[in-house]
Amino acid sequence: MLGALLTLLVIGAVAYALAVAPIGGVIALVFVAAFLVLAYRRLSLLAYSVAFTVLLAAYTAAGPGPWAWKGVLWALLALVWALNIRPLRKALISRPFMRTYRRLLPSMSTTEREALEAGTVWWDGELFTGAPRWDRLLAARPPRLSAEEQAFLDGPCEELCRMIDDWDITHRRGDMPAEVWEYLRTRGFFAMIIPKRYGGLEFSAYAHSCVLAKIASRSTTVSSTVAVPNSLGPAELLNHYGTEEQKSHYLPRLARGEEIPCFALTGPRAGSDAASIPDTGIVCRGTWQGREIVGIRLNFSKRYITLAPVATVIGLAFRLFDPDGLLRREAPAGAPSDRASRDPGDIGITCALIPRGTAGISVGRRHFPLNIPFQNGPIQGKDVFVPLDFIIGGPRTAGQGWRMLVEQLSVGRCISLPSNATGGAKAAVWATGAYARIRRQFSASISRFEGVQSILARMVGLTYIMDAARSVTAGAIDGGEKPSVPSAMLKYHVTEMGRQVANDAMDVHGGKAICIGPRNYLARGYESVPIAITVEGANVLTRSLIIFGQGAVRCHPYVLREMNAARNPDRRRGLDEFDAALFGHMGFAISNAVRSLVMGLTLARFESVPDRGATRRYYQHVVRFSASFAFAVDVAMLTLGGYLKKKESLSARLGDVLSSLYLASMVLKHYNDEDQPPDDLPIIEWACRHLLYQAQEQLHGFLRNFPNRPLAALMRLFIVPRGLTYFAPSDRLGRRVAELVTSATGSRERLCRFIYSTLEPTNPLGLLHEALTLAPMAEPIEQRIRVEGVRPGRVTALDLPGRIEQALAAGIISEPEAARLRDYDRKVMELVRVDDFAPGELGVGAGELHRPAPADREPIHAVVEPDRVGP
Ligand SMILES: Cc1cc2nc3c(=O)[nH]c(=O)nc-3n(C[C@H](O)[C@H](O)[C@H](O)COP(=O)(O)OP(=O)(O)OC[C@H]3O[C@@H](n4cnc5c(N)ncnc54)[C@H](O)[C@@H]3O)c2cc1C
Repeated sequence: MLGALLTLLVIGAVAYALAVAPIGGVIALVFVAAFLVLAYRRLSLLAYSVAFTVLLAAYTAAGPGPWAWKGVLWALLALVWALNIRPLRKALISRPFMRTYRRLLPSMSTTEREALEAGTVWWDGELFTGAPRWDRLLAARPPRLSAEEQAFLDGPCEELCRMIDDWDITHRRGDMPAEVWEYLRTRGFFAMIIPKRYGGLEFSAYAHSCVLAKIASRSTTVSSTVAVPNSLGPAELLNHYGTEEQKSHYLPRLARGEEIPCFALTGPRAGSDAASIPDTGIVCRGTWQGREIVGIRLNFSKRYITLAPVATVIGLAFRLFDPDGLLRREAPAGAPSDRASRDPGDIGITCALIPRGTAGISVGRRHFPLNIPFQNGPIQGKDVFVPLDFIIGGPRTAGQGWRMLVEQLSVGRCISLPSNATGGAKAAVWATGAYARIRRQFSASISRFEGVQSILARMVGLTYIMDAARSVTAGAIDGGEKPSVPSAMLKYHVTEMGRQVANDAMDVHGGKAICIGPRNYLARGYESVPIAITVEGANVLTRSLIIFGQGAVRCHPYVLREMNAARNPDRRRGLDEFDAALFGHMGFAISNAVRSLVMGLTLARFESVPDRGATRRYYQHVVRFSASFAFAVDVAMLTLGGYLKKKESLSARLGDVLSSLYLASMVLKHYNDEDQPPDDLPIIEWACRHLLYQAQEQLHGFLRNFPNRPLAALMRLFIVPRGLTYFAPSDRLGRRVAELVTSATGSRERLCRFIYSTLEPTNPLGLLHEALTLAPMAEPIEQRIRVEGVRPGRVTALDLPGRIEQALAAGIISEPEAARLRDYDRKVMELVRVDDFAPGELGVGAGELHRPAPADREPIHAVVEPDRVGP
């Protein structure tokens, strides 16, 4: 409303100016238009100077107005020209600015800087520019499976899924059976990221992700177990940082499944703030295998460590201290003394591999994560003495553990949790679409009810987004990227979307999903959701602190350049770099303001984008919101500075805008990679509308909560000059999307590709799909019974079996039709059935896992965590 009023006001003012002073008005408009075009096209300062010199010369020669006024304009232009003289502007503007900037810049250790600079900037960086270059995204090769990878999915992976009995694992055993463990170990499931020369499978990130998604569609316990050795952990760290000796020793053993790894970072005192671990390693002399050597004495207490209870080799993160300078003598070229602390002996976070049997380690007890009994538990170490060679990469990489972890997180976070969540969501959509079609209430399939359709549409749209993000980002990793900010976006948004899809699937299934037992194919997935939300950076933290916090420094085209220039010890070079970055930044900010305003007014209709078809407008809106986002970021950073980090809700909203734009781009790219099947278009529309609407709403929320209210009002003019014009997906669109998964369509197959949907007696996904394919045959027969039998009173039975017999007797349906309908009804009722148990049966078969250990009975306040602090 306000936007419309302002637009009218501007039009009115221009019309008035033209009416009162036609020539002056036209000239003013020419100047404004020239400025807008130059800024929109992001031309250089020199181009501005030349263009305005020409315009001003023409105006001075032929235009009206007093000479004094013209003189003022020339003086202003002279100032603009002066800005082109670099030595002058450096002396007058950049140098004093840099001095103040340096004073305000928080100090940063080498470790912090390395962590911040870890990974690469990819499409996330383009979105920060306000003018993303689509060719960079669209030119990337679509992710594809090699013949070998496809064979693994169709062979061992399919066989593994067949072997899994999730109820047996989660309820009876509290563990996977020995044959599943054996199969995983010997068939390479723990070796997907290990190079072939060490006996691994060396799969692409995309294949790795597809394998996890497929297993997750069958069992979260098994997919979590497979995810960990292939994710951030010993194999990954050894691959990238291990010495050749370490690689040759461990990687073949890990590939053959002879060693089971875990990685222990988290402890009772350090969860989200993992860099603050109090676990210590002191470089000292000690005895190792009968010899006196320089080694490390470790004291640590870790918890929540996946695979710890069965691990044979423990990846350990600890803080290394070298109080006597022994490390320096042992490895003089290594271990630069960065250190976040001032203690000269504090080497920093270090990662090592410790064999399970090393004296002083206690491991083996289990945690019980929400009925998903993958192996997870605590590990303690007291005065564990190990050689320096146990450090991953050897003594030379002592103190570089945090950088290693952050670097590897850039890849790992894009794969494990997003793939598991996507596999779960695909299975939920596959099952729920079929279930909604075959489940009848009020004499109709529940898939016909609008309430159910809107939920199904959300499930489908979100799953498409998750799958697109997973596939395209994995493809980027295979292309050499280590996308650190997208990894945080995927971790947060894909797991949150997975949570929504799991909730929705439960709602559509009703009581069928509530009563657990072997027939319940949703409950364990639903129960597992909070695990994905918590691990690898808990979601609240990831949204509030990481996505935007890291993105603002890492992806912004100028911020990191300015920071590095200001910190450059070579002052002269630093000033040169700072000057270039500062003036580049100013032009960038002005351009984004103009682009945001112009695209806000025109709804980006004239923005040139690579697609001319049905998705063209979505490309344009991504560009529009990217410019608005970049503009908002600069205003926020300029006015709030470091305080923005504390204003987590504002940072989170900016992170949400960035994520929505990233995810919408992934959807468009994925659709392109799939050769744009026209049948999928409603899903693309739903997904893009949903994401772009979110982007608009989060920008709106940012503006509403921005502390400087006049500035917020000004920003609003540039960001949403016509008000909130973007709308969420319509009900009609939702209906079309829902229909795509409640029939056996190509879209349903494409969306749910890679799940375990084989038709066999123990696979509900296969059975549900079978029933769905039979529904179009059964429904017309049932309809005929209703119209010709029930309504005229010729058929009076209350249930379908009775009605079938009466309709057959009355000649309404034939014997073959009756047989087909009986068979369909039997199958449907099998699928609708839930489990029941004899009194006392529940809990009895749960075995060891459910039997409390003596320590569990102690009062909570009496439990003392064996946690050790200090060197
Ligand atoms: C099943 C399971 C498996 C795991 N596997 C492993 C493993 O193999 N290896 C390993 O090292 N660790 C593992 N973890 C640990 C996991 O990474 C941590 O649980 C996680 O980092 C969160 O730490 P925390 O649970 O102590 O929560 P806390 O750090 O106590 O956080 C509590 C809440 O506060 C929020 N929060 C914290 N700081 C901020 C902030 N600045 N701004 C906003 N919100 C904030 C968090 O988001 C969270 O919601 C596992 C955990 C679980 C539950």
